[in-house]
Amino acid sequence: MRLTPVKQSPALSELAGGPVWLKCEHHQETGAFKLRGAANAVARLGDVAGVTTASTGNHGRALAYAARQVGLPAVICVSRLVPENKRAAITALGAEARVTGASQDEAFEEARRLEREEGFALIPPFDHPDIVAGQGTLGLEILDQLPDAATLAIPLSGGGLLAGVALAAKARRPEIRIIGISMERGAAMAASLSAGHPVEVEEVETLADSLGGGIGRDNRLTFALCRDLMDGMILLSEAEIAAGIRHLAREDGETVEGAAAVGAGAVLAGKLRARGGPLVLLLSGGNIDPALHREIVGETS
Ligand SMILES: *Cc1c(COP(=O)(O)O)cnc(C)c1O
Repeated sequence: MRLTPVKQSPALSELAGGPVWLKCEHHQETGAFKLRGAANAVARLGDVAGVTTASTGNHGRALAYAARQVGLPAVICVSRLVPENKRAAITALGAEARVTGASQDEAFEEARRLEREEGFALIPPFDHPDIVAGQGTLGLEILDQLPDAATLAIPLSGGGLLAGVALAAKARRPEIRIIGISMERGAAMAASLSAGHPVEVEEVETLADSLGGGIGRDNRLTFALCRDLMDGMILLSEAEIAAGIRHLAREDGETVEGAAAVGAGAVLAGKLRARGGPLVLLLSGGNIDPALHREIVGETS
């Protein structure tokens, strides 16, 4: 596990009306923060035949990495929407990437079967106390690096990341603001929060593919934690996400995936400003198909 760097973004600071810092967690081993939760969950396992999960990519990759470190077999169930580069990254770590179903929820069925019938431990991507606790180390790390942070902008999907970071950061600094950011297309947590209970949304393709997938109808932890701890929520169009990717590459020299570009996208769209102190954008992952990244960064606009 790496202590990932923070750096100031001059161009985004200008636009946001105050200091903007980038927490460069896309430089984490496996290319995303998911290793924090997965490694914590694996470290706490008893005697199991192996580990399994359903994943849009980064959690599966992190679990494969954490399992290999302790010599456990890993079967990662992925839906047909998951990009080829993310599947290849899982296989390269010695795990099986089992392609099954048209959505995250359908891929989850196969993971449940492995748990039921083959003695595997199912390590879910977000809705588990060990996962939330592991992701929460990021909140502590950010406040170690930037003790006067006023706002944390957190990419939001199932909410394990936001819940963990918010719990940890607010324990140390109660006045800190936590803003969740998702894409307009298929944001399950946003739909669930406005309905007042977990709801299913249709899963569609988005540039922020790591933010796709449901929160689970039987969500135990992250729905309530996000409802209670989040201070605001922003939704972005596909064009706004692309602008974030492009800006981070051209102005800040950082290659990130769509999910990680939402903070920059929100600042560029005028939807997020620095208020009362440093605004920290969490760059959550860097696992983007290189050809797609080149295409987006090369576009003029
Ligand atoms: C998983 C993921 C997220 C969202 O995390 P949740 O805990 O599901 O909210 C954000 N960014 C990246 C890169 C991810 O892999």
